[in-house]
Amino acid sequence: MTEFRKRPYLFSAIVGQDEFKTAYLANIVNPKIGGLLISGPKGTGKSTIVHSVGTILPKYEAIEGCHFNCDPERPEKFCTSCQTRDELTPVTRTMKIVNLPLSCTEDRLIGSIDIENLLKSGEKNVQVGLLGEANRNILYIDEVNLLPDHLVDDILDAAASPWNTIEREGISITHPDEFILVGTMNPEEGELRPQILDRFPLCVKVSSIHDPRQRVEIVKRNILHENDSNKFARIFKKDEESCRKIILEAKTLLPGVEMNEAFLYSIAEACGELKVDGQRPDIIIVKTAQTIASLDRRTDVIENDILLAAQFSLSHRTRDGGLLEPPTKDEIKDVFTKSLRKETSAKPVVSEVRKFSNLSIDIDKESGSFLEDAEEEEDFSDVKPDDITLKKKMNRKKNL
Ligand SMILES: [Zn+2]
Repeated sequence: MTEFRKRPYLFSAIVGQDEFKTAYLANIVNPKIGGLLISGPKGTGKSTIVHSVGTILPKYEAIEGCHFNCDPERPEKFCTSCQTRDELTPVTRTMKIVNLPLSCTEDRLIGSIDIENLLKSGEKNVQVGLLGEANRNILYIDEVNLLPDHLVDDILDAAASPWNTIEREGISITHPDEFILVGTMNPEEGELRPQILDRFPLCVKVSSIHDPRQRVEIVKRNILHENDSNKFARIFKKDEESCRKIILEAKTLLPGVEMNEAFLYSIAEACGELKVDGQRPDIIIVKTAQTIASLDRRTDVIENDILLAAQFSLSHRTRDGGLLEPPTKDEIKDVFTKSLRKETSAKPVVSEVRKFSNLSIDIDKESGSFLEDAEEEEDFSDVKPDDITLKKKMNRKKNL
């Protein structure tokens, strides 16, 4: 009997949650931001949104045969095994989400020896851990606040170091473990230790949607997806292509996005006034604001980018050596607006979230047909992710 697999839910079909979508896409475009915590009550679609990006994630080049996705362009970040390879053949891989289950063992997380193979053939082969799989990908923890303490500590260690070492049975393999740490949590089910909260560069708080029009649209799309996921995929095909194109364009623009000196001072001053601990938040705000600009197809940062980046970067951080609670959204907005005006004599700052779905919501149309009559959009179907990603000839040999 043929088994039909249901297609996944799609990012462009998500209604609302624009801050979440912006912060998530910013991480995908710029993995150097490092991660995102999504906090909110159950039933707000947190996990659905995290997994909905499966079809729009960008591609990257890795070394063929490497289990850790080593970047052929960065010899300084090669794993132990790639350092001894004669041939560095490039292979294109797609960024993926690596799920870390709450029941994960330490060996599964860090990596181990393939015991089955050892017993069968006597050969000591490394069994790649989730940290290895997650290198250059997304490491996702659902209900991160329920993760056992020893795993939290391992994650903290991993996030603090760009390298992971697998040491078992006389074998030692070191590999890069630069991943985007994405976690979801329902604060009603328990808090997170400040140490791990701080490890999430960005945080968004999602809440239930109360607008009846949006709620109806969510119901329609969910039912359509459940009943006919192929039709669902057809309807959202163009919007998915648009999202993919936005990501690729942003990745291309990002290296050229500039942040002027006055903005840097505004950020520093506002962070100082809010008594933010350390320098890391300032750096994250700068990187995030630049990435938000690139997502909006700009190479110049504007005040709104900084305001949004500040909200994403500060709303979960305790301050003043842990003595102060994280700042509220209003507090962040007030302090940053004041600082931006002072430093740049700029126009009033208006908080605005870039919308990644230009879908017109029309609840009067029959369920499932609400988009088929939508205005004809630019056709991006000929855009391939690797049109823009690095196309470098990698047939060089590495001399060691
Ligand atoms: Zn490697």
